[in-house]
Amino acid sequence: MEKKYRPETLCVQEGWSPKKGEPRVLPIYQSTTFKYDNSEQMARLFDLEDSGYFYTRLQNPTNDAVAAKIAALEGGVAGMLTSSGQAANFYAVFNICESGDHFVCSTAIYGGTYNLFSVTMKKLGIEMTFIDQNASEEEIQKAFRPNTKCLFGETISNPGCEVLDIEKFARIAHRNGVPLIVDNTFATPINCRPFEWGADIVTHSTTKYMDGHATAVGGAIVDSGNFDWDAHADKFPGLTTPDDSYHGLTYTKSFGKMAYITKATAQMMRDLGSIQAPMNAFLLNLGLETLHLRVKRHCENAQRIAEWLSQNDKVAWVNYSGLPDNPYHALAQKYLPNGSCGVIAFGLKGSREEAIRFMDNLKLICIVTHVADARSCVLHPASHTHRQLSDEQLREAGVAPDLIRLSVGIENVEDLIADIEQALG
Ligand SMILES: *Cc1c(COP(=O)(O)O)cnc(C)c1O
Repeated sequence: MEKKYRPETLCVQEGWSPKKGEPRVLPIYQSTTFKYDNSEQMARLFDLEDSGYFYTRLQNPTNDAVAAKIAALEGGVAGMLTSSGQAANFYAVFNICESGDHFVCSTAIYGGTYNLFSVTMKKLGIEMTFIDQNASEEEIQKAFRPNTKCLFGETISNPGCEVLDIEKFARIAHRNGVPLIVDNTFATPINCRPFEWGADIVTHSTTKYMDGHATAVGGAIVDSGNFDWDAHADKFPGLTTPDDSYHGLTYTKSFGKMAYITKATAQMMRDLGSIQAPMNAFLLNLGLETLHLRVKRHCENAQRIAEWLSQNDKVAWVNYSGLPDNPYHALAQKYLPNGSCGVIAFGLKGSREEAIRFMDNLKLICIVTHVADARSCVLHPASHTHRQLSDEQLREAGVAPDLIRLSVGIENVEDLIADIEQALG
């Protein structure tokens, strides 16, 4: 789109601008391949000398339209869809880290990312150091090494609901000549745009609020285009020196601000192939069209329920940054002035069994391994998503053993409160 539109307009209209006689709604290009008139045209595509579609593992018009919408919402220069949030976080880091490299990451991250970074990427020869995101800059600085390639954190952590001081993280990353990657899944660009606070790359599990209806697993990476790879060329040879697998092309030279996403597409996606199915991108786009409406309602409902829970004497603690006495309230007011998200972490008085009993008693709110969709749901991370982690790892990841993660949907809030009340017994 030519003019700079506001987020609500971008949600509805960005990414697909049909010409005369074309479908009003973004079509699903359900095709693995694309036709050309002669061999020369095709060859130029393979050499990245021309842009165009040739095989859906690399690019597909439906996906590109949705990636463009997400990039516009985040205020970035380019985006890429992936088959899942896991793939997005893996590619975001692996695009600039190789065997022998190192990166630094907050402990307050999603359990799946925790395993990916600390176990699987270690097997690839990439080391990672966890840091407490609330520690001082001096303390966090100690984790950096000459071979450190990025800093990683979540805007609002899943499931601990800790709010990241993005400006502080950006300062530390840039002082060390590396980009800051922020997983913005829980906040969504409706409530926070990390690029405005200095983040360089943003990732999403689009499976959550963006899809919003629990229909399609997916992910996205967006590049701000702000990080100067050439200024730290020795750290990022994959972007600043010739790529032998592309006839000696150098990404920063040929693609400038688009270097990072072009490499992610041309190399990561070509070789590892976690592309989002065009059908799922279509469903994701339907979700995005109402993201601004839903996120607002999720936040209103969650605020009411967090306040209600914090007044209830069966509840031991509530972590929701919208509560004035919350340790993250000040950070939330700075980074999330319009609301944080619909996810509340809380604990009940009594034993772990108390939490299980409460969850089993819920009628409207279901136990599901999901979060951040229209239907309210609940999960006990210590027994479900984070089962693989020891108690110490749980605490490190900001997950108390009694933590109940309540994902507040967009139903009538009185109905939700009534369900919680009866389940507390
Ligand atoms: C769910 C989630 C992921 C993983 O995404 P999938 O789409 O399930 O692969 C990554 N980060 C955060 C913050 C998440 O909530």
